[in-house]
Amino acid sequence: MPERCPVCNQDFKIEPGFYIGALWTSFPIVIVIMTILSIFLLAYLKMEMNLFFVVISVILFSLQPVIIRLARAIWINIFVDFEKDAPKKLL
Ligand SMILES: [Zn+2]
Repeated sequence: MPERCPVCNQDFKIEPGFYIGALWTSFPIVIVIMTILSIFLLAYLKMEMNLFFVVISVILFSLQPVIIRLARAIWINIFVDFEKDAPKKLL
């Protein structure tokens, strides 16, 4: 994760432990992905349970880098507003 936003120079390290709250935004994302995958794999493909757990684990582990970044972006957007033409602060 970069130190600052390349567009608006927002400091991404607001305080220690700031992104712990991003766990609460990644959780519903994982639930939505798991629900859609479960319906597809179990109901549509009629996959066996053992194979299903292996497949869904591999998919969710491989999606973690994307999910974590998305959850952090959602979390910081809850607390920090984006102003398109704000002047860059030099710190
Ligand atoms: Zn920015």
